[in-house]
Amino acid sequence: MLFGVFLALFLPCVGMSVVFVVYMCFLCYATTTTRQQQSNTSSSSNHQEPTKGVKEKGLSSTQLDKLPKVSGQELVLGNDCAVCLDVIESEQVARIVPGCNHGFHVECADTWLSKHPVCPVCRNSLETQLFDTTAETNPC
Ligand SMILES: [Zn+2]
Ligand SMILES: [Zn+2]
Repeated sequence: MLFGVFLALFLPCVGMSVVFVVYMCFLCYATTTTRQQQSNTSSSSNHQEPTKGVKEKGLSSTQLDKLPKVSGQELVLGNDCAVCLDVIESEQVARIVPGCNHGFHVECADTWLSKHPVCPVCRNSLETQLFDTTAETNPC
């Protein structure tokens, strides 16, 4: 008799706990799936951001080759390189920024301009200057 009473009390408790555990699993599953969906949407939006910053990209090597080269003694606006803060010797080759005529070591200018399409001294935009000079050199 005691065993029957025990079963009558115990079985509903087991049933309730099983339902509770299943419910908790369902809640965990729902939250993880929504989190995955949220992370998927956020990661996809992150993938779109680099395409927006394409305009901030520096010059390509072919664009860098179009920039005029002069020797250090030909520099008009002083012979201090603003990138490495060193002096451009008169026998060294310097790269000139078209438009503002600021000069830098060829390696310094290429390193900077491949990351930032602006003059490191006066922030003069280089990309538009490049297109302007190519249009001026071809007066057809
Ligand atoms: Zn330099
Ligand atoms: Zn400049």
